[in-house]
Amino acid sequence: MEILTDRPEERYAPGSMLHREGSDEPLTVTWSSAVADGPGWRIQFREVAGRAAAEALVGAYLEIEAGPAAALPRGAYFWHEVIGTTVTSTTGEVLGTVRDVYRSGGAEVYTVDGGPYGEFDVPGVRDFVRIFAPRRGEIVVDTAALDLAPAGARRGAGDPERPKAPRRRPGPRRRTRAAPSRAGALVAGRRGIAVVRTHDLRQWGIGRHRSVDDAPYGGGAGMVMRPEPIAAGIDAVRRDDSLVVLLDPGGEVFDQGRAHDLAGRSHLVLVCARYEGVDDRVRSLVDLELSIGDYVLTGGELPALVVIDAVIRLLPGAIDEASTVEESFASGMLEYPQYTRPPAFRGMDVPAILTSGDHGAVARWREEQARARTRARRPDLLGEREER
Ligand code: SAM
Repeated sequence: MEILTDRPEERYAPGSMLHREGSDEPLTVTWSSAVADGPGWRIQFREVAGRAAAEALVGAYLEIEAGPAAALPRGAYFWHEVIGTTVTSTTGEVLGTVRDVYRSGGAEVYTVDGGPYGEFDVPGVRDFVRIFAPRRGEIVVDTAALDLAPAGARRGAGDPERPKAPRRRPGPRRRTRAAPSRAGALVAGRRGIAVVRTHDLRQWGIGRHRSVDDAPYGGGAGMVMRPEPIAAGIDAVRRDDSLVVLLDPGGEVFDQGRAHDLAGRSHLVLVCARYEGVDDRVRSLVDLELSIGDYVLTGGELPALVVIDAVIRLLPGAIDEASTVEESFASGMLEYPQYTRPPAFRGMDVPAILTSGDHGAVARWREEQARARTRARRPDLLGEREER
C-alpha cells in the first residue's frame, strides 16, 4: 500500500480497522510491515483471504476508522479533512478547493483547482500558507509568494520552436500520487521552492496488464514504448505553462545554459523512457528533447534527476545565489581554483594573492586562472565564447 499517514506503525498496528472509501465493510489489520527495499507498506487484513480478494483492492483508497486510536494531536489533520477545503487569497479572493494532498520532501503539498488560476500546488510551508484551518473550512494562501497568474496567462508558455499540443482536461485523477522523487524534493519540498512529482506511466497503460511497450515494427532487439500511454500521461499533467521534455540520448546535450532556461519556466514535464526508447511519434508530443551526455543509460529517471537537480539549485532561494553566478560554465569558462584551510597542505601552499586582501588583484587572478584552466582542459568552451 502507498501510505498517506505520517504514523503508519500506529495506524496499521494489528487490530486497527480500515475500510474502503464509500464502504462500511471493515478491514482488520492482522499484520503490517514497511517494505524493506522500497516505498509503501505490506498489510494483511483478516477479511482479505487469498489473491483474488487482494487484487480486488488494487487502486482502492482505504480510510482508517476514526476512533480513540486515530485521534490526532492538536493542529494535525487527516488528509481527507483537508481535501475539499476552499482556498482563498489574503484579500479574500476564492482560488479554488483542495483536490489532493501529497508529500514532497519534508512538506505536504496541496493541489488546488477550480478557480481563476486553474490547477496549482501550494507547498504547506509558512511562506505560502497564511492560515491553515481546514476544520473550519479556511485555508488562506499568499498569491504573490506563489507567483500565481490566471490560467492561460502563465509565465514561460511552451517553447516557440515546437507547436504545442492543445491542453486537454485531465481524465479522472487518482486519489493519491506516486512518491515524489526524493532527490528533487530535497531542496524543493522543505523550503517550498519547487515541487517534484512522479507519475507512473502504467496508470495510462493499455489493457489488463497496463502495458506500455511492444515489439518494434521491422523486428530487432528489445521493446519500444508505445505512444498512447505517454500521450495520455502528457495530456493529464500538461498545463498551459508547461514545457514538455523527453529525455533521450539523441536529444540536445543538456548544459548550464539550458539549465538556466529551464529554471525560468514555471512547469516542466520530464518524460522518461525505458527499454529501447520511445515510438518515434512521441517526439511530436514534446517541446524539447534532452540528452545528459553521449552514453546510454537504462532509463530516463537518472537523466531526469540530473536535470531536476541542475535546475532546482538555480531557483531563487535554493542556494546562495553568488555560488551559481561564479561557478563553472556560468561565464562560459571552468571555475577558477578554490582553496580553503589549511594554508599549507602536503607541501602545497595556498596562492599568496588569495590572502593578500587585495580584492581587485584576487578577481584578476581568478579570471586568468579560469581562462588558463579552460584553455588547458576544455578549449571547446573558449572557442565557442571567442567566436561570438
Ligand atoms: N535505444 C535508445 C538509443 O539507442 O538511443 C536507448 C534507449 S535507453 C536504453 C532507454 C531510455 O533511457 C531512453 O529512451 C531515455 O529516456 C533514457 N536515456 C538513456 N540514456 C540517456 C541519456 N544519455 N540522456 C537522456 N536520456 C537517456
